[in-house]
Amino acid sequence: MPFLTASAIKQTYDVIVVGSGAAGGQSAYTLCMDGAKVLMLEAGRNYTPATETAMFQTPDQAPLRGVDTPEKAFGFYDATVDGGWQVPGEPYINTRRDDAGRFDWWRARMLGGRTNHWGRISLRNGPYDFKPYSRDGLGFDWPIDYADVAPYYDKVEMLIGVYGDNDGLENTPDSPAGVLLPPPKPRVSDLLVQQRAGRLGVPVIAGHRAVLTRRLDADNLPAKLHPGNPEAQRILRESMLRRAACWWATPCGRGCSTGANYQSTTVHLPPALATGRLDIVCNAMVREVVLGANGKADGVRFIDKTSGKEFAASGRVVVLAASACESARILLNSKSTSFPDGLANSSGKVGRYVMDTVGADLTGQVPILENLPLHNEDGADGGHMYTPWWLYKEQLAGKLGFARGYHIEFGGGRRMPGPGTGAKLEWLTGGSYGLKFKQDVRRYYGSFVSFAGRGEMIPNENSYCEIDPLVKDKWGIPVLRFHWQWSEHENRQAAHMQRTFANIITAMGGRVQGKVEADGAKAIAPGGSIIHELGGAIMGADPKTSVTDRWCRTWDVDNLYITDGAVFASNADKNPTLTIMALAWRACDHILARMRRKEL
Ligand SMILES: Cc1cc2nc3c(=O)[nH]c(=O)nc-3n(C[C@H](O)[C@H](O)[C@H](O)COP(=O)(O)OP(=O)(O)OC[C@H]3O[C@@H](n4cnc5c(N)ncnc54)[C@H](O)[C@@H]3O)c2cc1C
Ligand code: SF4
Repeated sequence: MPFLTASAIKQTYDVIVVGSGAAGGQSAYTLCMDGAKVLMLEAGRNYTPATETAMFQTPDQAPLRGVDTPEKAFGFYDATVDGGWQVPGEPYINTRRDDAGRFDWWRARMLGGRTNHWGRISLRNGPYDFKPYSRDGLGFDWPIDYADVAPYYDKVEMLIGVYGDNDGLENTPDSPAGVLLPPPKPRVSDLLVQQRAGRLGVPVIAGHRAVLTRRLDADNLPAKLHPGNPEAQRILRESMLRRAACWWATPCGRGCSTGANYQSTTVHLPPALATGRLDIVCNAMVREVVLGANGKADGVRFIDKTSGKEFAASGRVVVLAASACESARILLNSKSTSFPDGLANSSGKVGRYVMDTVGADLTGQVPILENLPLHNEDGADGGHMYTPWWLYKEQLAGKLGFARGYHIEFGGGRRMPGPGTGAKLEWLTGGSYGLKFKQDVRRYYGSFVSFAGRGEMIPNENSYCEIDPLVKDKWGIPVLRFHWQWSEHENRQAAHMQRTFANIITAMGGRVQGKVEADGAKAIAPGGSIIHELGGAIMGADPKTSVTDRWCRTWDVDNLYITDGAVFASNADKNPTLTIMALAWRACDHILARMRRKEL
């Protein structure tokens, strides 16, 4: 029986996986498909995309027409059925409250975690991104190269389905032929951005997102992904056949009940469950990893949220995949006489070097896009095109005044009107009303293009989390306290984003909405708010300065692995989830190989 209650766990498992999002889903998939018996413990409730996804509802059917509220920060229909910026009964502490010193922590408490909602932007880190210190002397090199991860990027892209093109650009890796799905057609505004940004030397290429622009090749991919494993091939084939192609109509952030985009709940967990080797306990809040007398992890202790009682689960291997900061929290709360400062923390680096993505936005209104003929541009919901970082050479030559780059995500087009359509037009209409206002709304609808920079943050000593000495959550588990500080590199990068976006908007013949912020410290979004938090248990080549080795295995505890973003030694501008999954697959292959050698 795959879904168990806490009290029904009896056996010892090969592997205990904590968390069910991108990291936990990929870990359970890789392990189960290759024969391991896995127990997954998930703090959130069970969630069934096929029946719970509000895919087809329209705004008029929702309270307040589906507008954002504190409880549903991405709107009423958002796929995050439990969780958000605040989780009731599960606080976290900030040492500062101001925008510059605050860390906002988004948590999803549900099966599949944030993958039910995420933006599906799936970019590979490039070769430079694994060796940033070697390039400019800042931050840390990873103990692995792009070549170590590339085969796993290939596998994950084939498994989850990612659209995009190969463009041969610097530090923007191509995928092997036949791996990527074709990108969707550009929207009108994409073509305009491409033309006008191109005149400024800013490239615009096909976006890469985990959306099926056509059905996956269920006849050939399973054998490529699981050579010599007929059972896995059969299960994966059936799973791929259940996934439909995108039909260009509904917002991905609500989830996709037809499996046309990647969610752990539609892509990783169904085949893992079909092996019969995955047990899942939901509402299981892991408190700590238990250390045995032999210095190995014995298993974990968790609170069953339905009864409030504490339970233990045992396994030969423990994989933490609870999301970067939560995995750091579990380690810091796992204290013993051998590890009084938290498990696997002999380096003192657990909780250190928390990173987020640098974010700054600007929107333009573009007259040439007004009053276009009626057409629908919902498309694959998210970006069909984007701009990868293009100034590597100038940056390396020290011409920019900041050390790391950013990519640009932009959005426009005539999409399904939402609660905000027609709002805040006064700066264009002069406050029209009645018939004139209706005409104005039609005129300006689809004429806005928004630009969002997503840039690399360099890990620093002042951005970290630790256990608060006083505060506990409603389950009695000590909570995290965050410290946050951007460096001038990030602030200057945010100012550069603002200038670039303003130049592109001007080149499109448009006008900027609001102010172009020259002060990067004011333009930059607060820490954590881009929801790409990474670090807290970074990998490295030296046990004195890092928490895990190149296999995501903790230096201190041989059978304890971390497969989420905690292990990232840097946070490239590329959105992290594809890399999380690639590293998780690689780490689990390592576990499986060690199990076969009877080392575990
Ligand atoms: C609005 C939004 C848009 C995003 N867009 C993108 C994007 O376009 N591209 C991209 O690359 N990334 C994006 N992300 C980030 C992406 O969602 C994360 O990088 C990814 O989900 C991380 O995977 P994870 O498994 O580490 O964490 P999660 O997906 O958060 O999963 C962690 C799971 O662990 C569970 N858990 C936590 N603590 C415990 C515990 N103590 N015991 C048991 N279980 C626990 C949680 O309930 C959760 O289900 C976005 C995120 C959001 C919210
Ligand atoms: S746009 Fe496509 S992938 Fe996204 S939810 Fe709709 S059908 Fe699914």
